[in-house]
Amino acid sequence: MTKKDPSRAPLIAVAVFVIVAALGSVVWLLVGMLRGADARRVEVVQGGNVLYTYDLATASPQTVRIEAPDGGWNEFTIADGEIRMTAADCPDQTCVHMGPLRAENLPIVCLPHQLVIRFEDADT
Ligand SMILES: [Zn+2]
Repeated sequence: MTKKDPSRAPLIAVAVFVIVAALGSVVWLLVGMLRGADARRVEVVQGGNVLYTYDLATASPQTVRIEAPDGGWNEFTIADGEIRMTAADCPDQTCVHMGPLRAENLPIVCLPHQLVIRFEDADT
């Protein structure tokens, strides 16, 4: 029997769509969980050397002052699961104005002091 049954085609299309959508949302959730877990680890880098690493999910609230080799300084604060530059003596203050670290591809950078605060897996 080669005659097609046109009444079934829409049902099959809907079923395929539902299955694909369900699989897609499961994968999306898993990827989101993995990315979320990775994205909590941050590192503070000065001139290419990692000074500190933190897990924002477990780090206790604190403010840390970093002296730059040229005599300048930066101060970053960890609070509420976020890290941000709260003070610096650099002339542009760009690092302070960036606010809390949000995205892997947008690290907090203090160019005058060669200081970077970023998520740990930003380079991978
Ligand atoms: Zn700065």
